[in-house]
Amino acid sequence: MSEVNRAALFFEPGRAFEIAEFPIPEPAPGGVTLRITRSNICGSELHMWRGDGRLAQHVTPQGRILGHEATGRVHALGEGVTSDWNGAPLAPGDRVAFQYFQPCGRCRNCTRGISEACMESFKIRSGELDEWPYTRGTFADYLYLHPRQALFKVPENVTDTMVVSANCALAQVIMGLERVNVEMGDRVVIQGCGGLGVYACAIAKERGAEMVIAIDGIEDRLQLARQMGADHTIDFRELGDSRQRIAAVKDLTGGLGADVVVELVGSVEVINEGLRMLAWGGRYLEIGVFFTGTHFECDPGRLVAQNQRIEAVGAYDAASLQRGIEFLARNAERLPLDDVVVDYPLEAIDRAFSEQDSGLVKRASLVMT
Ligand SMILES: [Zn+2]
Ligand SMILES: [Zn+2]
Repeated sequence: MSEVNRAALFFEPGRAFEIAEFPIPEPAPGGVTLRITRSNICGSELHMWRGDGRLAQHVTPQGRILGHEATGRVHALGEGVTSDWNGAPLAPGDRVAFQYFQPCGRCRNCTRGISEACMESFKIRSGELDEWPYTRGTFADYLYLHPRQALFKVPENVTDTMVVSANCALAQVIMGLERVNVEMGDRVVIQGCGGLGVYACAIAKERGAEMVIAIDGIEDRLQLARQMGADHTIDFRELGDSRQRIAAVKDLTGGLGADVVVELVGSVEVINEGLRMLAWGGRYLEIGVFFTGTHFECDPGRLVAQNQRIEAVGAYDAASLQRGIEFLARNAERLPLDDVVVDYPLEAIDRAFSEQDSGLVKRASLVMT
């Protein structure tokens, strides 16, 4: 176990990360210090690394520690902490999954039960690097969890490779499909088969979708999407034109279109195509484009005439993370959940970013040793 707290500092798009060392944060009462074991590169970090939208404005000359989709072991428990959020006893060394942000629990949205829309959630992610708790991102050896960050022990049969995506990709997709109420008999289109997309195939089937159609242009991803539950795949290398892909969805759905289309590419370019795949009464779910500063054209009259709606989901509630872990435990032996990530050491973070950016890997995972 690393006795120092290494972290990769991000400065600006196009510049290499730098590894620096920080103190290991002592846990405050009610909090927990984790030893991070794995941290994935999430699409949101790729956007930042590329400088998409207005994200380039968020970087500072001192550098910033990115990373949030991660898992780890309990390093130290703060005063008063004896169990996880299920009441299971917690001890140093236990493997855990955690909410990477902290809803305040007392604002108007939190009290109305939509903690995913809490405006305070991400405050814990900013602060000076030389002030406790130092490393606020998971591209680091240690991370401090505040008292209101949900924390769950990981079941024995769920490996670190499986659970590492639970606290962002998986929980995000669970919250999203809940929001648009994917249910028995729905026909669902998944745009993009990266980490979120392949989980979305499996979760849509779990919720009872009659048909899942997954769209991507990389064979590896399409294959994993099929293994995770997609009934049909559309390869945009074969159907290069938007109209062909829309026609393919219409064909597969008896001319009607899909009840739900989910955007998980992370590009505004695909939104209009997705909207045109919808059946009358359909629901469009936007998750992929999490950054501000881009636009798409929309024909509101078509939405009205066809009784369609657009929903967007960012962050998730604690229950979605809990359900994600239960989903992994239930399907650990049935689905190829270990195949979603590809490993890199922390020192290879630059290569991990560029290989994920080029689409060579589904989801790069930094392994801390
Ligand atoms: Zn993420
Ligand atoms: Zn709140």
